Formats: sequence, C-alpha cells, structure tokens
Amino acid sequence: MPIADPMPVLTDAELATRLERLTESGVRLLAGSVVDMAGVARAKTVPLRRAGVFHTAGMGASPTWNVFCADNAIAFTDRLGVVGDLRLRADLAAARVIGEGWAWAPAEFFDQYGEPSPNCARGRLRSLQAGAEASGLTVRAGHELEFVLTDGEDPALSDRHWQAYGLGSVLREGGFLVDLSRALEEAGLGVEQLHAEYGTGQFELSLAPRDPLRAADEVVLARLLTGRVARDHGLLASFSPLPFHDGPGNGAHLHLSLERGGRPLLSGGDGPHGLTAEGRAAIAGIVEGLPEVTGVLSGSLLSAGRLAPGRWSGAFACWGLENREAAVRLVAATPGSPHGASVEVKSGDPSANPYLASAVVLGLALDGIARDAVLPPETTVDPADDPAARRLPAGQTEALDALEASATARALLGEDIVAALLAVRRHEAEAYGDLGPAVLAERFRFAWSS
Ligand code: GLU
Ligand code: MG
Repeated sequence: MPIADPMPVLTDAELATRLERLTESGVRLLAGSVVDMAGVARAKTVPLRRAGVFHTAGMGASPTWNVFCADNAIAFTDRLGVVGDLRLRADLAAARVIGEGWAWAPAEFFDQYGEPSPNCARGRLRSLQAGAEASGLTVRAGHELEFVLTDGEDPALSDRHWQAYGLGSVLREGGFLVDLSRALEEAGLGVEQLHAEYGTGQFELSLAPRDPLRAADEVVLARLLTGRVARDHGLLASFSPLPFHDGPGNGAHLHLSLERGGRPLLSGGDGPHGLTAEGRAAIAGIVEGLPEVTGVLSGSLLSAGRLAPGRWSGAFACWGLENREAAVRLVAATPGSPHGASVEVKSGDPSANPYLASAVVLGLALDGIARDAVLPPETTVDPADDPAARRLPAGQTEALDALEASATARALLGEDIVAALLAVRRHEAEAYGDLGPAVLAERFRFAWSS
C-alpha cells in the first residue's frame, strides 16, 4: 500500500537556515531515528556537515531493519531478507537540539529511488493524519509515559521507602526530576505533569497534546532524554511493559481529541456526556477495533502480564466516563480539564511502536466516523464485575492471531507492516515463550530503553 503525502523536502535555503541554527547551538552530531516493529528505536548518526545528505539522499539501512527483534535477532520474511537496501532520511524540519553536542531528528524509510517504503511506521501515521486533515478534522494526541527507575536489578527505592503518588517519592528523586524536566523543556517538549506512580520506583510524565505525528516524535525524544538523565544520576529507566514480574506494569496511555471546524467532537453534543454524533462514532470505532489491534498496541511477550484486570491497564474492550479499568476512558470537558474532552486509550504499552500505536487508534476513530459506527452502552462499573464485558486478547498468541485475521489492521497499516509486526512478535514467542516470568522480565527489562 503506497504511503501518500511523503515527508516534505526542505528547499536549499530552508536547509541552510536549519543547519546554521544547529551549528550555532553547538551541534556536532545528528542522530536520525526510526522505531522498529518491536518498538525499539534505532538510529544512524552523521557529523553535522552531512545532515543535508541525511535529509535528501538518506543513509543506508538494510531491509532487515524492519524485522529486527527486541533481542536483536532478525525475523526474516519472504519479502525482507539479506538482499536490498533502504534509505533512512532524517526529517530535519522536526530536528531538535538535545545538548552535549547532539541533535536528534525522526527519520523515515525510503527506497534508493526516493519512493517511501510501505514498511515505514512514521510514514503510515503521516498518511493517516493527512487523510484526517483533508476530511476537515483536527486531531490532537497526548501521551503519558510511565517508567521505572532502577539500579538494574531492583527499583531505585525499596518498597519500604516508596509511597505511591507520594510527595516523599518525588522529593527523594527530586534532582532527577528537575534535570529531566529541564532537558525535556529545552528540547521543546511540553511537560504537563510529573508524578510518582503506583509501582515502586515508577514515575509518569505527561506530554502536551500535539498533532499525532509530532506527539509520537516527542515520545521517542522524551524516552531518549529520560534514559540519558537517569544515567546521569547513576540509574536506568525501564520502559518495559512489565519491568519486574511481580510489580505493576508500565502503560503508554494515549489521549485523542478531535475537532471539526473548530468544534470539538467529544463535547458540546447531544449524546451521553456531551458527545456529538461523530464523537460517538469515533469512540465506537475504537472500542470495536481494539481487540484486533492489541497485537499492535501491546503485542510483546511481556505485554499480556500487564494487560490484566485490576491493574488499571484497560484490559476490557469497553468505554466509560472516567472508568480506569475500561480500555477507553472518556475524559469530559469540565473546568477541571483545560484541554477539553478526550478519549484515553489505556491498553497500549511502551513496547509498541508509538507511530503505529497512534496510527491504529486514529485510524479506528476515523473508520468509526466513516461508518457511522454505533456506540455500545457505557460501562459504568468495574468491567471485571460485568459479565457482558469483553476482555481484550489475554495472551500474546491470541493478540497476534486477532491481528493476523484483521482486515481493518491491514487497511490501516498495510500488508507489509502487519506481516513484519507478526514476524517480529512471533519470534519473541518462539524464542522466549518457555521462560518463567521473573527471567523474562529481567531479560527484556531494558529492551525499550534508549
Ligand atoms: N500502570 C498502569 C498501566 O499499566 C496505569 C496506571 C494509571 O492509571 O495511571 O497502564
Ligand atoms: Mg499512570
């Protein structure tokens, strides 16, 4: 499936201005990164004088970059093997200075003739976003990042010293949090809030709503900076869905809001909680499609350990106002919600590729609107107590089988991406499916850390 609206190319004059600014900011090296199907960020780096070439011609990357696995194995497919070459092109319009002589930019996959690769996750999201905009919609995405600070073996603070949402917990890691918020803000990221989460050593940062492409870029950048600041403080940040097998999981919750002609679709309407007809259809599309895209949102071998009832991870395909056990939580437009109404998809975790996670959530919402999908009744109780509530796939195999059978996922992501995702995730099951939970959590604790 072709990628419409490929990455814009800067004019020579724009390029010169960008490079001048980067030089003035003391940048020596530029890292251009893509996120692979296993959710791992991979990069090529060039000295700044080569940044223009990185943007226009690109740097070489084997097609196997699309089937690298979380353990660095390669899940070869019929289409992705040892022969061929791709180009990784840095989107310099989105470049950020990140200090210590470095700049970072998101990159996209192209072939050697400059055609966008059908395997490009960022290209896919760009395309979907452009489609939404062409149909008159404005979309905003806001990401919440959860991570556990650890010395490698154990959470940074012991159970005895950890207070969930505690003032003591944030102050004990106060130096880290101050440096982190400074690094994020200096890189142009909008930090909405930081807090100590429920799990021992677990923190959360929320990023300001942006258009989906920029928001996903900022997730990659925020994770990179979190890892770097943690290392500066002698710690490691785990973005694993389940850093410790007997502890809480890390979620990657995604808030989505939609507007048409400046009017929000999730408030001001005549439906429940002020939903408009299109807002209802958008939520219906997400709720209906979630079981089929769980393999995208939380498809790693560790994901199912997190996506379970009672863990606030959204293990049920249902929606409800402020229902934290529903996969889709509606946040209504109240004076307490300055960004207005949003839907929060809770079931995703940080092992997902953020571009693909955003693409499927946005794509399902758009599909719901296009089909005028019917909103199912609201779940107003803990779905675990509701016999009618539908669980999302409860294991990796179920999630991948549902993805494989999904015509919707293929329509949203294209055959190539679905095939590559399945190959990579099935490798995890084959190679590590027999490991016990503690060994598994330990093996992949830092697989999604940059
Ligand atoms: N840590 C939970 C998860 O795995 C989320 C807790 C919360 O609601 O913030 O998604
Ligand atoms: Mg949280």
